[in-house]
Amino acid sequence: MALKLADLILTDISYILTMNENLTVIEDSDIVIKDGKIVDIGKNKKDEYFGRTITCKNKIALPGFINTHTHAAMTLLRGYGSDNPLKVWLEEYIWPAEGKFVSYEFVYDGTEIAVYEMLRTGTTTFVDMYFYENAVADVIRKTGIRGVLATGILDFPTPGAKTPEEGIQKTEEFIQQYKDDMFVFPAVGPHAPYTCSPETLKKAYELSEKYGVLYHIHIAETEFEVKTVKEKYGKTPVEHLDSIGVLSGKTLAAHMVYPTENEIEILAEREVKVAHCPESNLKLASGIAPVPKMIEKGVVVGIGTDGTASNDNLDIIGEIATSAKLHKGVNKDPTVLNAKEALLMATRWGAEAVGMSDLIGSLEEGKLADIVLIDVSQPHLNPLYDPYTQIVHSATGSDVDTVIVNGEIKVLNKEVLVLDKNYLIEKANYWKKKIEEIRK
Ligand SMILES: [Zn+2]
Repeated sequence: MALKLADLILTDISYILTMNENLTVIEDSDIVIKDGKIVDIGKNKKDEYFGRTITCKNKIALPGFINTHTHAAMTLLRGYGSDNPLKVWLEEYIWPAEGKFVSYEFVYDGTEIAVYEMLRTGTTTFVDMYFYENAVADVIRKTGIRGVLATGILDFPTPGAKTPEEGIQKTEEFIQQYKDDMFVFPAVGPHAPYTCSPETLKKAYELSEKYGVLYHIHIAETEFEVKTVKEKYGKTPVEHLDSIGVLSGKTLAAHMVYPTENEIEILAEREVKVAHCPESNLKLASGIAPVPKMIEKGVVVGIGTDGTASNDNLDIIGEIATSAKLHKGVNKDPTVLNAKEALLMATRWGAEAVGMSDLIGSLEEGKLADIVLIDVSQPHLNPLYDPYTQIVHSATGSDVDTVIVNGEIKVLNKEVLVLDKNYLIEKANYWKKKIEEIRK
């Protein structure tokens, strides 16, 4: 039998957690990659193909993780003004620094640091909402990670737009520039129901409909927001957004800490997706989202870190571990959010949440080759009774050994190949000096 040509062959993988519909687990097998896609999975596939081969003994393969909500450039504000009341943190630390420094350079440098950390810990696709998303797109071009990028649209002036109309117009130009790209996926990003008027929200919605792109928005993050929206519109946030017709299967709602029973029904009916950000909600003392209830009612929930200024890391394994333990604890039920569900939030459900489930989110023939390999040869990951539990509750992002995006190796032997670590640390400290000047 003639050998078939492949670009990359991952052999002898201890466990392949496909995260497909049946949650199939394949032991001691191979994954074959060609033209950026998975072309074959199974036992002894290596005997049928010829190409670059990596032996993956003592490794678990998973779909690349999907971070469904972040503000990547905020790595430059990581830990800045921490432990203050929200109002003090925002008004005395975050907003002055952003007001003074947010620029193409700030976003580019901050995003590079974020992408280094995301790749290092297994994230292959992230959803970003910030300003100067063209800088984020340029970092994606350089590194080959995937991103769903939405410029924040608000009713007051932002670093990229004086008015919401300008924000929407610039978003349309960005969509046109990247609409057929396989790495930069443009989206529309109205900030939140309390910072955008119904008119802005509707115009943004029309734009997302016109191009079939994601409508990414913060909803019901804090009690303050719920109160503000109720006072202004006489409705809770989800009811308000539904009444103006901006909720659909393309809506990705970040946080959703305070949905009422009725609002959860609306989310399920409109097929709205949720980006659950437990660590940010805890650190900012926003509250705890009723994730098990939303999942039970059929709402698709993905996981997000939010920006590092309120997390303060981008490690998705840590995020799902926090989520699983948090919901077990508050529900006083250890069966809640089991390890499979926690990993689904980071993989297949995350792909559904961002509208990319035909491309990513599971390891299956025909899907894009976005793959994470976790090294389980270390003592803290042995004995290994159940690979799902071991990854969620014993592993950390540091155990990610190899990361492949679109068939290309981005991390190998725990080293990021596409960015220079020392240069990034220098840049981080360059910005720290500038930012600390503000409070002197
Ligand atoms: Zn956010």
